[in-house]
Amino acid sequence: MPAFDRLAQPDAAGHFGPYGGVFVPETLMTALEELSKAYAQASADPAFRAELAGHLATFAGRPSPLYFARRLTEHCGGAKIYLKREDLLHTGAHKINNALGQALLALRMGKKRVIAETGAGQHGVATAAVCAKFGLECVVYMGSVDMKRQALNVFRMRLMGAEVRGVDAGQKTLKEAINEAMRDWVTNVRTTHYILGTVYGAHPYPKMVRDFQRVIGREAREQILAAEGRLPDELVACVGGGSNAMGLFFDFIEDTSVRMTGVEAGGRGLGRGDHAARFAGGRLGVLQGCKTVILQDGDGQIEGTHSVSAGLDYAAVGPEHVFYRDLGRIQFTYARDDEVLEAFQLCSKLEGIIPALESSHALVQGMKRARELGPDKIVLINLSGRGDKDVQQVAELLKKP
Ligand SMILES: *Cc1c(COP(=O)(O)O)cnc(C)c1O
Repeated sequence: MPAFDRLAQPDAAGHFGPYGGVFVPETLMTALEELSKAYAQASADPAFRAELAGHLATFAGRPSPLYFARRLTEHCGGAKIYLKREDLLHTGAHKINNALGQALLALRMGKKRVIAETGAGQHGVATAAVCAKFGLECVVYMGSVDMKRQALNVFRMRLMGAEVRGVDAGQKTLKEAINEAMRDWVTNVRTTHYILGTVYGAHPYPKMVRDFQRVIGREAREQILAAEGRLPDELVACVGGGSNAMGLFFDFIEDTSVRMTGVEAGGRGLGRGDHAARFAGGRLGVLQGCKTVILQDGDGQIEGTHSVSAGLDYAAVGPEHVFYRDLGRIQFTYARDDEVLEAFQLCSKLEGIIPALESSHALVQGMKRARELGPDKIVLINLSGRGDKDVQQVAELLKKP
């Protein structure tokens, strides 16, 4: 196992080994450079860090607890299962960590207008909340199919003063919403900051979002040391773009005794268009700003994806994950929709915690590992969000024969 210098990633141009980089229209280069510079200055400024920490505590509700899941542990009959409770944060998921950080940056750069993309609506809701808090104008792009599926989140965003713009192109979901957000940014770049919601896109987004999400792993590390006096044997997190996973993993990268597993959406199985398991069927390519592993056909056309959870339903994965996959530092697997629905119900029934469908992917794998490992081992699962947003969809799915 090689020694890792996690802080050396990415390089100055945003490369994680051969992945990442900056693949955008010329008109965005200046904005990205301005953002890189502002972010570098802010992250070196103790006043910025203190202000962010204050908002994370009083607005988002950090630190989030690390919870020993006694009944899930007993049910699996093996390793101890701990849950990192990002589901308890304001707006219901880890997305608020990044939205707060980037909103403070927008203020620092003097940008009074914020745009964002959203799939299921969680990132849109987090962005709408921070924009309301700081008095920023907010426009959220959302595929029109997603707007129908997640009507409640659309209403939440509007309640908090955001304008939600439907996108009718292509599959009318997340990928098209990102295209529209980038188009808006090109046009309004002087007044507008684009709050991207995951460790994806052109540099500096993958690094910046990772850094804003690192608080998850930093807290988890302290909390597990306090509870057990040692590091966990295994970390498990679901991977859409990869921000909750990278946020948890990053501060353990150099602890090679800690195994790390990212769980992608296995959907209905690995048939074409039936899943979003990029590591199971993807190839190297460029999409929406960065070079990474993408689900595509022989001609490089982006393939359709499917997952029961909208938050994991994307054809590409954050470049840093690919880098650590190559190094053998992070393993990847996937969970199918049917297994996910089972874990969703089991966690609800045994722990009194309704997990997001995204997070339920991590639960599938975490419970599987707990069964395989002995009772002297520890598995720590990132519960990235709560499942209130999903209960109606699950009710429909469970009605079907
Ligand atoms: C958005 C979301 C995800 C997926 O995004 P990542 O960037 O991969 O973390 C996972 N869980 C929840 C609850 C989400 O809202």
